Amino acid sequence: MPRESKKARRERANEIYDLLLEAYPDAHCELDFVDPFQLAVATILSAQTTDVRVNEVTPALFEAYPDAEALANAAQEDVEKIIHSTGFFRSKAKNIIGFARGLMAEHDGEVPADVRFLTDLPGVGRKTANVILGNAFDINEGVVVDTHIKRLSNRMRFTRHDSPVKVEGDLMELFPNERWTLLAHLLIWHGRRVCDARKPECPACVVSHLCPSSSV
Ligand code: SF4
Repeated sequence: MPRESKKARRERANEIYDLLLEAYPDAHCELDFVDPFQLAVATILSAQTTDVRVNEVTPALFEAYPDAEALANAAQEDVEKIIHSTGFFRSKAKNIIGFARGLMAEHDGEVPADVRFLTDLPGVGRKTANVILGNAFDINEGVVVDTHIKRLSNRMRFTRHDSPVKVEGDLMELFPNERWTLLAHLLIWHGRRVCDARKPECPACVVSHLCPSSSV
C-alpha cells in the first residue's frame, strides 16, 4: 500500500467505523452490570479471561456484596471462592476488595466519574477507567485497548505500535471523541466474530476493501 496521508487514514478509519456500525448495530459492553460499581468490579475481574466467564460469577458476587460497603468488609477467602473460575482469583479478590475500600475511604462508597480519581484506586488502570467512564457514565475519556483492539488496529494500520498507550493515542487522533467508546466495542465484536487472531475471515469481512491486511 502506498504511504497514506493522515487525512486519508482518518477518512478510511471512519469509513471502517461506519461499516462496522452497520454490521454490528447492537455492539455494546458484554459485561453484565446495573450500576458503575458492578461494572467496575466486573471489569477488574475480566483481566485475562472472557466476559462470559465473568458474567457467570458476578450474580453470586453481587448478591453477597451488593455495594462498596459490603465488599469492603468481605473476607478475602469468601470472595476468592466465588470468583475462583475467573483465574488469578487471589489477586483479583484483593483488587476488588481494595477497590471497594478505596471507594469507602475516598468517595463515600460511590464510583467517581473522573479518570484521575479512578486510576488512583486499587486495581484500576487506564483501560479499566476508560471502560467505566465510557459505559457507566457516557464519558469518552479515551479508547479501551485490549488484545482484539490492538490486533485489529495493527491489521487495519490505524497504528504500528504494540504498547496500549501508544495504540490508544493513535486511535484518539484518528477518531472524533464521540466515537471512542463505541469504537472499542465495534473492534472487539469484529475481532471476536470475523477478524480472528489466527484465522481472519477476510472474504467475509465488510471492511476488506479498506483493510491493508486483507487477503482478498
Ligand atoms: S480484511 Fe481480514 S485482516 Fe482486515 S479487518 Fe477484515 S478480517 Fe481482519
